[in-house]
Amino acid sequence: MSSVRDLTSNISVIAGRVNGNRVGGSTRMLHGPTGDLVAHVSLCGIQDVDAAVDAAADAQHAWRRTPAPRRGEVLSRAAVLLAQRRAEFATTITLEEGKTLREAGAEVDRAIDYLSFFGAEGWRLAGQEFANLEPNLRITSRREPLGVVGLITPWNFPLAIPAWKIGPALVAGNAVILKPALEAPGPSVLLAELLESAGLPPGVLNVLVGDGGTIGAAVVAHPGIHAISFTGSTEVGRRIAAVCGQRMARVQLELGGSNATVVLDDADPDSAADLIARSAFGLTGQACTATSRVYCTPGIASSLVEALVARARSLRIGDGTDPSADVGPLVSTAAHARVADIVDTAVREGAVRHGRGAAAPPFFEPTVLTSLPPDAHILQTEVFGPVVAVVEVPSLEEAIACVNASRYGLVASILTNSLSAAQTFTDEVRAGTVKVNETTTGNQPNVPFGGLKDSSNAAFKEQGSVALDFYTVSKSVYVRW
Ligand code: NAD
Repeated sequence: MSSVRDLTSNISVIAGRVNGNRVGGSTRMLHGPTGDLVAHVSLCGIQDVDAAVDAAADAQHAWRRTPAPRRGEVLSRAAVLLAQRRAEFATTITLEEGKTLREAGAEVDRAIDYLSFFGAEGWRLAGQEFANLEPNLRITSRREPLGVVGLITPWNFPLAIPAWKIGPALVAGNAVILKPALEAPGPSVLLAELLESAGLPPGVLNVLVGDGGTIGAAVVAHPGIHAISFTGSTEVGRRIAAVCGQRMARVQLELGGSNATVVLDDADPDSAADLIARSAFGLTGQACTATSRVYCTPGIASSLVEALVARARSLRIGDGTDPSADVGPLVSTAAHARVADIVDTAVREGAVRHGRGAAAPPFFEPTVLTSLPPDAHILQTEVFGPVVAVVEVPSLEEAIACVNASRYGLVASILTNSLSAAQTFTDEVRAGTVKVNETTTGNQPNVPFGGLKDSSNAAFKEQGSVALDFYTVSKSVYVRW
């Protein structure tokens, strides 16, 4: 255990980074989910926001003139360096936000993939040529960077989400102001340092460590920041959208979810339970793509519930640094109180609760809820904990109607061997991603990702080559000779 903690000794005071230098003022203690002191944090002030925007604007002049493949090379080199420092980054993630070391290692691997993928995108940036009405006229359009972009990220993937935003922002030629969540700022700061050691010029990526209401809000409102990419709660996203709308800044919002899996009679109950347990209880349910609703048809309902409850009971809850733990803690005791309240409300509404019995906060036992009324609160809210509600429905059509009844629309999946049922599902479900015989969690870095309804403003997708759309603007060029 002590060797795990020693790995973080180089970030014992986490500070922001502006123009390649550490910045910050008053310090406060950073506690992990179980109350351990994991670091001290030096908080940025409003003056640091202005300094970061000035540094970014200066640095962007040269960065946008750097050939795109060379910009991409910096990301590719950073991917290699990150792979060499996998254990250190994983440990920082685990200590700060609590996911198990195995899950944190997988997050580092995803971040490596994002940096590699967007590094290669440097070779693929391209414009377009149009047909001309006249001779001696050539009309093209090219993609140009926006300038300085603000990235605001949540605590639940404190490395992967910064990486999937930084990658396309930088390769497109923008300079970046990153404002990570205060619960887990360490991975962002480490990533910025790592990118500088991979050759990123100072000032191209700046990190502001501070809380959302002051530093985050100042980033959103800053006239020198040309676009905001935000991942976090729907509530905060709405506020950010209003400010960006007012000052006409481009905004990308990727928000909460209440993801559903439909299980039809022809599915195998054991493999269905395995998939659902991974999506619902993995990462302690603290993924925007976690499964929190299951709709199953009558022929499989009882065997599915039995298999799922068995899995919920068999998982080992423990500290993220404990190699035998399957499920780490929730991020905080406040998060525990919120999830407990959602479950208590469901029970008051008539639900039956299955699990191993209460765990001490901030740990929360994997929980299956059955016998819910159709209008149960849990079916309309984001749970963000290891809890899944199982509802029996008479038919595929009714299951699709239930999936679509949610205010969210991030991911949905169906487990079936029926090609026609799978096809109908993928056609009729309103979600940004639909999957067949798959977990709702997990996505490839080369595939567009984003939600619908209250899960996103659905203006621009993240990940994949289309992620470049948000970070670039097209310029039409007419040349006559
Ligand atoms: P949050 O909305 O509380 O905070 C997200 C970020 O916004 C943090 O950096 C926070 O400091 C900042 N912030 C808070 N108030 C702000 C304000 N007024 N102005 C500017 N910035 C502000 O979310 P969280 O608790 O960190 O993360 C969990 C949420 O993120 C869940 O709802 C989850 O579904 C969502 N999420 C979505 C995706 C996705 O891709 N759709 C991925 C991961 C997490």
